[in-house]
Amino acid sequence: MGDVIAFKRPKPQDKHRGNTLCKNGFHKWEVVKDKPFDVKGGKLLTQYRCSRCGAIKSEKR
Ligand SMILES: [Zn+2]
Repeated sequence: MGDVIAFKRPKPQDKHRGNTLCKNGFHKWEVVKDKPFDVKGGKLLTQYRCSRCGAIKSEKR
């Protein structure tokens, strides 16, 4: 009985495994292709999204 409950419960290690690098600041950035450029104040911004944790950042060009 106890084993079944333990098996169904999501393991914290699995949940955090993919985000360990992200938490250390090493995101897996990918260019957001839906909206690659954002004109803001006359400047072009490139948006990136982390494929692991979904974080988004913008970079000025
Ligand atoms: Zn990330």
